[in-house]
Amino acid sequence: MTIENKVVVITGASSGIGEATAKLLASKGAKVVLGARRKDKLKALADEIQNAGGHAVYRVTDVVNPDDSKELVQLAKDTFGSIDVIFLNAGLMPNAPLSALKTDEWNSMIDVNIKGVLNGIAAVLPTFTSQKSGHVITTSSVAGLKAYPGGAVYGATKWAVRDLMEVLRMESAQEGTNIRTATIYPAAIHTELLETITDKNTAEGMTAMYEQYGITPDRIAKVVAFAIDQPEDTNVNEFTVGPTNQP
Ligand code: NDP
Repeated sequence: MTIENKVVVITGASSGIGEATAKLLASKGAKVVLGARRKDKLKALADEIQNAGGHAVYRVTDVVNPDDSKELVQLAKDTFGSIDVIFLNAGLMPNAPLSALKTDEWNSMIDVNIKGVLNGIAAVLPTFTSQKSGHVITTSSVAGLKAYPGGAVYGATKWAVRDLMEVLRMESAQEGTNIRTATIYPAAIHTELLETITDKNTAEGMTAMYEQYGITPDRIAKVVAFAIDQPEDTNVNEFTVGPTNQP
């Protein structure tokens, strides 16, 4: 089974990488289930996909809330009868030096970028385990591979995601449940992500960097599609993807 007819749940689907991925997968015949907090954006995207002849439903979802994640997965099963892939993509990046002590933002990143992923895993794992198939894909970041000043907590959350995916894949292989995992490490991608930065100097620096190098989120969507499109016995573990000219 390739992308066509696969049921794909996407968190962070209201903008950026999640939105671009939903559009691409739906155009290839996937049935997409969209989750994020902004209802107007989700509805507009679902309408656009349906008007183009695709299949999409949405549910307002805060990934920090375990029940929301469970209900998003349940919506997929109730609407389309199954779930094949979950793309755990929702995230925040309010970067700042540690010395700025933006402790509320540290907690928000841990909540959304780590606990949000764990909530998604918990929501699908019983189903994926019992059907002995499934695919968990996450958006980590190059910040999950390489430390940089201003990105301490964000980077820590993205390192955590890498670990979660790799261990999930290994445990599933040991347990014989055939769950595939893929971790994507994007570099500078033009989305709404920089809007989460409240530290003025950091925002200015990152905006300048993104203006110089950023590429569009459909580039990441293609990578997600590639991972899904592999044969069931083939796991593409990791992708690092960014602008060709970004050092
Ligand atoms: P966007 O800001 O455009 O998208 C972030 C998405 O996450 C939005 O749809 C937002 O929707 C959603 N989101 C945030 N908080 C929550 C929450 N509590 N519950 C549910 N959804 C939530 O940025 P990107 O598309 O760039 O971000 C997607 C992922 O890509 C993130 O994990 C980010 O860390 C990662 N990434 C991005 C890079 C880039 O350069 N853009 C580089 C490396 C990684 P809503 O506000 O409606 O809830």
